[in-house]
Amino acid sequence: MSSLEIKNFGIIGWPVGHSLSPHMHNAAFKSAGFINYNYTLFPVRAGKLFFAVEGIKGLDFRGVNVTIPHKSTIIKYLDAVDSDAMVIGAVNTVVNDGGILTGYNTDVAGFLAALKEADFLPEDCHAVVLGAGGAARAILWGLCKRRAEYITIGARNQQKAEALAKDFLNYGNVEGFDWLSDDFNDIIKTADILINTTPLGMFPNVDDMPPINLKLLPEGALIYDIVYNPVETKLLKTAKELGFLTLSGLSMLLLQGKESYRLFTGEEPNMRVMTKTVRKLLGLK
Ligand code: NAP
Repeated sequence: MSSLEIKNFGIIGWPVGHSLSPHMHNAAFKSAGFINYNYTLFPVRAGKLFFAVEGIKGLDFRGVNVTIPHKSTIIKYLDAVDSDAMVIGAVNTVVNDGGILTGYNTDVAGFLAALKEADFLPEDCHAVVLGAGGAARAILWGLCKRRAEYITIGARNQQKAEALAKDFLNYGNVEGFDWLSDDFNDIIKTADILINTTPLGMFPNVDDMPPINLKLLPEGALIYDIVYNPVETKLLKTAKELGFLTLSGLSMLLLQGKESYRLFTGEEPNMRVMTKTVRKLLGLK
């Protein structure tokens, strides 16, 4: 089936040149026969966001993804925000329904779906989250929604970790620590899962990893790095060598993309095509 209807999409952020989203969505549109659906990169500097949002309406874009540094700032320009995105305080997908802009956060669904694919049940677990930025907020909300028993945040900046924990205290048992502290090193001994949400290890800084002593974690813990480029970060490689189960950020990337596609089109994307496209771009088979 092919459709001649014209619909435009894009990703707004700064920088956006590295984004895999145009490739992933355009491949899925093509495979679905949407020959006039087009997804483009939009570099939008901080300070220019208002004009970009007006542009979405003026040019009648069907939807956009949103990345750093606009995920939180964009909320004030939207007409409505979905409840997940409201709690997280960040939007990564905007849908335009006839000039009414609604914001969503598909990172939560992507994160939880990736855990499900890996057969990890977050209910009643002790989760350790490294980093206290935007992705950490989405992940904390996902863990709270699925009733993780205890969530430990470890970050280089203790105040940020504590402040983030405070934001989620109404939803779960969350505590923040300096990731170099003795208390943190003690607490991670009971972790069921450790999730890196910092960019440490991301291309081109592939020799970096969070300063965590993985040997302190119990046998059988899952080490999850949401960085997807490279797919096997130094953290995951080290964890694998120590015998831990590992999960890369690739599945979260694909599954948050799947959720955005559903919101944009009301249809299911061809995940085989999306996956093949992204894997090829990342130099995988
Ligand atoms: P962010 O809001 O900028 O937060 C980054 C966090 O990492 C902050 O807590 C920051 O600490 C910390 N950090 C940054 N550089 C660090 C360093 N050199 N040493 C220690 N800590 C450092 O970014 P984000 O949106 O959360 O994204 C974080 C990562 O997740 C990126 O690599 C992104 O590509 C990835 N991500 C992946 C997916 C996926 O689908 N797989 C989805 C979303 C994000 P400070 O606050 O102290 O600066």
